[in-house]
Amino acid sequence: DISCLICGGTGCPSCKHSGWLELCPCGMIHPNVLREGGIDPDEYTGFAFGLGLTRLAMMKYGIKDIRDLNSGSLKALSQFTDDK
Ligand SMILES: [Zn+2]
Repeated sequence: DISCLICGGTGCPSCKHSGWLELCPCGMIHPNVLREGGIDPDEYTGFAFGLGLTRLAMMKYGIKDIRDLNSGSLKALSQFTDDK
């Protein structure tokens, strides 16, 4: 987790008013997921993690709503450049 760079850690809609953003979400894999993958959850456990590149882009460019990155709108996306 990092301190929200949008609000400086005071809380805002981007960080769900917590002041923190999770960049590398992780956790234990649910036994049903292992079971559906043909793995015996009584014998094995799993741990999953990922790196949220969109969260990094949000912090770098000050994007308040992560959904803007997936909007497909060139008008919306073209405002996020290094030129500013
Ligand atoms: Zn915030």
